[in-house]
Amino acid sequence: ACLVGSEMCIRDSPAADVERMEFQLALRRRGISNQAVLRAMDEIPREYFVAPGSIEHAYADQALPIACGQTISQPFVVAYMTEQLEIGPAHRVLEIGTGSGYQAAILSRLARDVVSIERYRTLAEAARERIKTLGYPNITVRVGDGIAGAPDLAPFDRIMVTAAAQEVPQALSAQLGEGGKMVVPVGPRDKIQYVVRLTKQAGGDLTRENLIAVRFVPLLPGQAREL
Ligand code: SAH
Repeated sequence: ACLVGSEMCIRDSPAADVERMEFQLALRRRGISNQAVLRAMDEIPREYFVAPGSIEHAYADQALPIACGQTISQPFVVAYMTEQLEIGPAHRVLEIGTGSGYQAAILSRLARDVVSIERYRTLAEAARERIKTLGYPNITVRVGDGIAGAPDLAPFDRIMVTAAAQEVPQALSAQLGEGGKMVVPVGPRDKIQYVVRLTKQAGGDLTRENLIAVRFVPLLPGQAREL
């Protein structure tokens, strides 16, 4: 269905079908194999989440600029981190770094519900609006410092951080339930970071695996003072 001006309705054209098929193929070629993840990537219209000037690149495998100097992550990285999180339909998921809301929308297709925290009010409000228009009722967007997590709603089955942390935030690992998993890019600012996957064992110990190298915008402390 077309929800915005006709120029944006690239889903309604034969060219759009080809583009979507190529998008799926590119993800498979890079090793994404989980069917539920591939389906979610097919169902969520990325063109609604990018800036108006980037719509023609919505299905290219690249990060794109959004408001407040932030980025919507590269589709492969979104699919990869989602796949590595091993989400089940009963899971409650916490995301840190709502940005455009795209990753939250993908998570919402796989989990019971998603709480997503963003430090910029402007981004959070725009994401909320998009999510409402497109209709993903199991997502809640909060404005605040995601480094503190959402202690009032913890424990979570899964946590995904979509900004690069210097160290894994302790408050977040504390909010993982037993058997819970978290994926988080860890590493210095403006250098190569690694997606780290933490799993909470019975008893509370965390096992840690380093996955792929990535580049994310930094996880910054505090709610943004700018809007
Ligand atoms: N997941 C987003 C992309 C995120 S870019 C998407 O799908 O579009 C990283 C986001 O993390 C940015 O919007 C940035 O403002 C936010 N961020 C950085 N530090 C944060 C913090 N401490 N708490 C909440 N959000 C944070």
